[in-house]
Amino acid sequence: MLSESEARSRILQAVNQKPERQVPLSHALNCFSARDVVAQLPLPTFENSAMDGYAVVASSSRKGAPLKVIGEQPAGVDRELRVPPGEAVRIFTGAPIPAGADAVVMQEDTKREGDKIVVNVGVDPGEFIRRRGCDLAEGQKILARGDRIRSTTVALLASQGFTDVAIGGEVNAAILSTGDEIVMPGKKLNRGQIYDSNSMLLQALVQGCGAFVTSVERCRDQPQRLIKAIGHGIKSHMLVITGGVSVGEHDLVQATLRSLGASIEIWRVAIKPGKPFLFGKAGTCAVFGLPGNPVSAFVTFLQFVRPAILKMMGAHELDLRKFPVKLATDVANEGDRPHYVRGRIDNGTFLPSGRQESHALFGLSQSNALLRIAAGQSLKAGATVDVQIWE
Ligand code: AMP
Ligand code: MG
Repeated sequence: MLSESEARSRILQAVNQKPERQVPLSHALNCFSARDVVAQLPLPTFENSAMDGYAVVASSSRKGAPLKVIGEQPAGVDRELRVPPGEAVRIFTGAPIPAGADAVVMQEDTKREGDKIVVNVGVDPGEFIRRRGCDLAEGQKILARGDRIRSTTVALLASQGFTDVAIGGEVNAAILSTGDEIVMPGKKLNRGQIYDSNSMLLQALVQGCGAFVTSVERCRDQPQRLIKAIGHGIKSHMLVITGGVSVGEHDLVQATLRSLGASIEIWRVAIKPGKPFLFGKAGTCAVFGLPGNPVSAFVTFLQFVRPAILKMMGAHELDLRKFPVKLATDVANEGDRPHYVRGRIDNGTFLPSGRQESHALFGLSQSNALLRIAAGQSLKAGATVDVQIWE
């Protein structure tokens, strides 16, 4: 049986980054940048007011001083006004600072009397002025190759006037749930049958990585049907199958893949839950066979499928984020495989959630983090441990 790290490195060797593409910013969310990007404009781009108020010369705006209002400077145009000492220009948030002014007095700190204002506070130079480039300098790196493109990233790129961005590669995946017992939600459930939850789980996980789902199919444990379904699935960059990868007579996925000419590169990994995990290649398609138990499918997806998708998409960080927390209770692993305990982080402590068995979907649904305990390891309540955050 392969170790987790060996399985992971074999998978990562077997998949390649997809070609980069230029996409509109509105399509780039959750993709990865293919290039380093530098600012072509400073932010703020010009010196402007942080408040609605009056642009003044600080040294002539002592508390109680009357200032003559000589004009108005709104946002959106530059009226090219000049403020001499002892005078003021009415100004609005985001409007360019007139020449001569070195501070803005908040409207709330003034009293208007005809064409004059009286300032109620002391004014310091620079007050309520947003300096050109104080947030971001021209030429500063704003995005690195392999960085995840987030909502704030597309906003930053738009602030630079960019309409599109080069992304590291688009990945599409087919999902196939197998099993004689599984029924599509919404259909009638007969005795002995269960609703197919893995399809939804995998769809959400694949999309959460930023990849596209090309098809979601369900298939009975029947060779001819499996051949057809797998044959269809391997037209995508990646096929993620659940169920049918274990050792029972009805576990036909491996034999079906072989009959279609696929190579099986990994079967069975020292991981709990998820031992029967399978990885192979069918032409250029990366095929993942995950155990049917929902928790096993979830854990093996995060440890093996997710890094492969991220590599194909051009990400530089393939691992889940780790976070140090205090254990709320003792946990031990008496088994011979590393165990991923599902639990919840609340206020910096980690508490295992629900039943720790591979079918226990409710317990999994209450969790937000995974604690990996090595084989034979015991951890005491109060110990600080690193957990993987998957949310
Ligand atoms: P298998 O890996 O096919 O041996 O299935 C292991 C367990 O996972 C069995 O209890 C199945 O009923 C369950 N299972 C298989 N496929 C699904 C699915 N799509 N959704 C929920 N549970 C499943
Ligand atoms: Mg099955």
